[in-house]
Amino acid sequence: MTARAANDLDPFWMPFTANRSFKAHPRLLASARDMHYFTPDGRPILDGTAGLWCVNAGHARRPIVEAIQRQAEILDYAPTFQLGHPLVFELAARLGMLFPADIDHVFFAGSGSEGVDSALKIALAYQRAKGFENRTRLIGRQKGYHGVGFGGISVGGLENNRRGFPTLPGVDHLSHTLNLKEAAFSRGQPTWGAHLADELDALIAEHGAETIAAVIVEPLSGSAGVIVPPVGYLERLREITARHGILLIFDEVITAFGRVGGATASETLGVIPDLLICAKGLTNGAVPMGAVGVRGAIYEAVVNQAAASGIEFFHGYTYSGHPLAAAAGLATLDVYEDEGLYQRATELAPYWEEAVHGLRGLPHVIDIRNLGMVAAIELAARPDAPGARAMDVFHTAFDEGILIRVTGDVIALSPPLIISRAQIDELIDHLSQIIRRTR
Ligand code: PMP
Repeated sequence: MTARAANDLDPFWMPFTANRSFKAHPRLLASARDMHYFTPDGRPILDGTAGLWCVNAGHARRPIVEAIQRQAEILDYAPTFQLGHPLVFELAARLGMLFPADIDHVFFAGSGSEGVDSALKIALAYQRAKGFENRTRLIGRQKGYHGVGFGGISVGGLENNRRGFPTLPGVDHLSHTLNLKEAAFSRGQPTWGAHLADELDALIAEHGAETIAAVIVEPLSGSAGVIVPPVGYLERLREITARHGILLIFDEVITAFGRVGGATASETLGVIPDLLICAKGLTNGAVPMGAVGVRGAIYEAVVNQAAASGIEFFHGYTYSGHPLAAAAGLATLDVYEDEGLYQRATELAPYWEEAVHGLRGLPHVIDIRNLGMVAAIELAARPDAPGARAMDVFHTAFDEGILIRVTGDVIALSPPLIISRAQIDELIDHLSQIIRRTR
């Protein structure tokens, strides 16, 4: 079958996508290898976004494909209730070595959103275990994205995700740190904005530290349109939370596994949280999986309390540590390490920065932001149609063979870490032409 009837596209209720506009011009991906997707008619699309920030090692890498195939033959599924299987212990140990400092116990989930909900529950369970029954307040950030579960939309700060739904009580939001007046066209971390962390002190003064369980932030916000943390900002959050017995959770769903250079953003930026959530790059996007790394002391407190009280930390998912995901995760970590991809991201980052900042001065471009192998090009919105200009660029780019991502009028780029310098030039030069042509 070549052309599809429009009603073939009806039964699948598409995530994040209006079926009606998709149906008018379906853009389908049929296969992928290394740096490219291919459409059903075989047209290559250069992947400028690593899928959705997840395919860090490039597509359909043999060792990962073979590990998944092998595992499907050996053990397709193992119940997560009172039973385990060897690979998931091995993966937890590998992650424990990869995560910074004493973040050496890992809880598995099926996605980033489940990882976020798990981390929030672990934080609350920890405070309860330490006898701080009143520490139930959670603090997130404006424009924060922590997935679409009820926990995630509560601590998250993207209004479109929250609107129309009930959210958890007792949640506050710090300001985001994006400021085009003070910090447009910053290269890497902006020098303006660390003082915004002091809002946490104000919230502590308002509510009392003894009511606050945890602060959750993305070290680098991705989905809100790439917000790079100001120099000193995360350090200040760390200092204030530590001083007041508040847990600091880093949502590294996007940033872990080399995206900003280093195995984690925590390592790259030198700020160590108490809990670290990852997903996406954990399996190179090939099998869904999320994970929460916690400090040994957090694990000990929660399980000891559980043993003493007889109430287990009763939480988990049918697919926590799924054998296929665990196999994919182990093979993925091997590829990252064998090919030195964290190091490669660090080495490529200056070239990437130079290339993306070369778009400065193009029509509509009002800011360019970057860190590691992430970049954002913000376009001025059309007054009558916010988001339409970037969406036009997205559509043209796809139709001409490059994949970008857009959020509002921000173009976000995060290519697989195997991208060559020539492919960076191809991506950015082509994008430059498209932006010039956009009205
Ligand atoms: N947290 C962050 C920081 C994310 O970027 C995302 C996904 N983009 C999530 C959580 C949610 O992950 P998932 O879509 O796998 O549930």
